[in-house]
Amino acid sequence: SFKKSLGQNFLIDQNILGKIVGAADLDKSKGALEIGPGIGALTEKLAQQAGRVAAVEIDQRLLPILEEVLEPYPQVHVIHGDVLKLDLHALFASEFKECEKVSVVANLPYYVTTPILMKLLEAGLPLENIVVMIQKEVAERMAAGPGGKEYGSLSIAVQYYSEPELVCIVPHSVFIPQPNVESAVIRLKVRSAPPVTVTEEAFFFEVVQAAFAQRRKTISNNLKSRFFPGEGRERLESLLAEAGIEPARRAETLSLEEFAKLSNTLHAAGIGGS
Ligand code: SAM
Repeated sequence: SFKKSLGQNFLIDQNILGKIVGAADLDKSKGALEIGPGIGALTEKLAQQAGRVAAVEIDQRLLPILEEVLEPYPQVHVIHGDVLKLDLHALFASEFKECEKVSVVANLPYYVTTPILMKLLEAGLPLENIVVMIQKEVAERMAAGPGGKEYGSLSIAVQYYSEPELVCIVPHSVFIPQPNVESAVIRLKVRSAPPVTVTEEAFFFEVVQAAFAQRRKTISNNLKSRFFPGEGRERLESLLAEAGIEPARRAETLSLEEFAKLSNTLHAAGIGGS
C-alpha cells in the first residue's frame, strides 16, 4: 500500500527514469544522493552510472524491498531517516569522500519539495547538480525570470544559489498511483558563488520577502509597511532613488541584481538592524 502522506508516487517509466539520470551527468568518479528511493527504480539506474549512491528513505516498510532490489549494487548505501533532520555535512563526509563531485537526483515527495531544496542549497554543500522531479508549477516558479506572475521570492532564492533549467514536463501516467498535479524535471546547476554580492544575506532575503508581501502593491508600499512604519516615506524614496529603483515598480519586475543593490543600499543606511 502507498502512503499518500509521504508523497509516495512511484515512477514506472524507463524513459523518464533515463532522462532524469541523464540530466545529472554522472560517471564513476561521481556520487549521487537520492532522497526517497521508494522501491528503488531510480536508485538502480543511479547505481549503474555513479561511483557511489546514498539513498535516504523515511518509510521503514520500504527498507526490505530496497535491500532486495539493490542487492547487486554494493556501491549503494540506503539510510533510514528524514532528510530534513539529517546532518548533510556529516553524510557527505562519510558517504562521498572518494567522489570528485556529487549530485542530488530524486523524484521528490511533493509535500516537502521547497524545504528539501532550500536545505540542500543553503547548506553550502559541494554539489554539482540537483536534478529533481517536482510539481510542474513549482518548477516553473523556480525557473522564472522577472516580469511574469511565476516570478517571486522562490525564483530569487533558487537563482541566488543555482542556475535552474527545465528538463521536461512529465505526464501523470508514468506514476503509480497517479498524482493530482502535473510534474516536471528540473536541473539546478549549483553555483560556486552567488551571482551578486550582498552585504548581508539574511537581510537580502528579508527585503525580497517584504517586496513580494502583497504582489499588487508597489515596491515602495511593500517596503514602507515592513521597514518604515509611521513616517519615513521620503527617506524610503530617496533610498530607492539611490538604488536606481522607481518607487512605483512592482517586485515582480526587479532582477536579482536590482534586489541586491536595493538591499545593500538599505543595509548601508542602517535599515533592518545590524
Ligand atoms: N524514488 C521513487 C520513485 O521514483 O519511484 C519514489 C519517489 S516518491 C515521489 C517519494 C519518496 O520519498 C517516497 O518513497 C517517500 O517515502 C519518501 N519520503 C517522503 N518524505 C521523506 C523525507 N522527509 N525524507 C526521506 N524520504 C522521504
